[in-house]
Amino acid sequence: MDEENTPSSGHQVSEMSVKLGEMQELFRLNVTGTLHAETMEMMKKARCGVPDDASHKDRALNYKWSTKSLTYRIENYTPDMSVTEVDNSIERALKVWARVTPLKFTRIYSGVADIMISFAVGDHGDGSPFDGHNGFLAHAFGPASGVGGDTHFNDDETFTFTSPNGYNLFLVAAHEFGHALGLNHSTDPGALMNARYTYRDINSFVLPRDDVSKIQALYGSNPEIPDKPDPTPPSTPNACDPSLVLDAVTPLRGETYFFKNKFFWRRHPQMPQTEQFLIKSFWPELPDDIDAAFEDPSTDLVYIFKGQKVWALSGYDVVNRVNLRSFTLPAKVKKINAALYADTGKTLFFVGKSYYSYDTNKKKMDKGYPKLVEERFPGMTGKVTAAFQYRSFTYLFSGTNIFEFSETVLMRMLGNNYFLQC
Ligand SMILES: [Zn+2]
Ligand SMILES: [Zn+2]
Repeated sequence: MDEENTPSSGHQVSEMSVKLGEMQELFRLNVTGTLHAETMEMMKKARCGVPDDASHKDRALNYKWSTKSLTYRIENYTPDMSVTEVDNSIERALKVWARVTPLKFTRIYSGVADIMISFAVGDHGDGSPFDGHNGFLAHAFGPASGVGGDTHFNDDETFTFTSPNGYNLFLVAAHEFGHALGLNHSTDPGALMNARYTYRDINSFVLPRDDVSKIQALYGSNPEIPDKPDPTPPSTPNACDPSLVLDAVTPLRGETYFFKNKFFWRRHPQMPQTEQFLIKSFWPELPDDIDAAFEDPSTDLVYIFKGQKVWALSGYDVVNRVNLRSFTLPAKVKKINAALYADTGKTLFFVGKSYYSYDTNKKKMDKGYPKLVEERFPGMTGKVTAAFQYRSFTYLFSGTNIFEFSETVLMRMLGNNYFLQC
């Protein structure tokens, strides 16, 4: 304590510089540790450089390697990552495909490999120049001799090992190797072969079903792994599935978002088409399989619920993380099933067949709750699984059905995909 107050300069200076270093470190981490709207906008433009046009498709269609034993060589490295990190990312990316096919990949360190891997910028001599920063991330040539199989990464981008910022080399490489093995782009938003780059949790990454079936159509399955793979390849929810049960629905700045598993559909009121995305492609920090969501228009925030955890979103930014208890729900409520902002300034939290009413302005729960949902919404006897208001109607989702209410009068029963394009 005495020492701190003593102006013995030498000590103080070094302490100061340490503090400054820590602050800079902290500042840098803050800047790079959060994905801001601007970054997200740029990242949404990022895609694979392999063209989708028909001429390319004709050329690449049904092209495959005639051997099951392929070689690869890493010709150079990016300064963004350590050599070990690059090697590890490339190796794991090839394993993604080797796991579900009879293909084997062997690394060579000299000579010409089937798959020559390099980092390059701009025009790099193959007639497909890269376009600088935030555009094409990489490209690969389909199975053939010569340049066939070769995979180039655009080194004007920032590649990362585990961070959700920048572009994850494992994910980009796994996608490109799909091309190197003969696959085209997929329109399935959940597919690895979708042309758009999306961050996914790389520790739990399992090749999606769409990619598995397409690569197995070319090469067959892995004889060493039995037919029932574990874990099961994830598939993309289908709006036409009559058994579809949505996780949560919320407005967001005039659009409506319908959540299911790792995905959401986005619906604009003036557009006939709904678009489907991975949740992580908009908010890398959000979990999959959320419980509930609502928009508070007075603060322009959307709240996402999963268990006790709540995330506050301002557009594409996660601006706050709070606990379910901050909504003054009783301690016995461990999770909610649905939430709905009513135009009266009240937010309804649905738990089983009951609901709580939260005063959004006073930031506290109204007295006299929980009440039975059926008391306020006669005819709604089941559990509410998702809810939102739209054009002054209240939509309560229960399993595969939607109950449409005008005030407290049940108007119609609709299918769960009523708002989605099927
Ligand atoms: Zn691609
Ligand atoms: Zn190239």
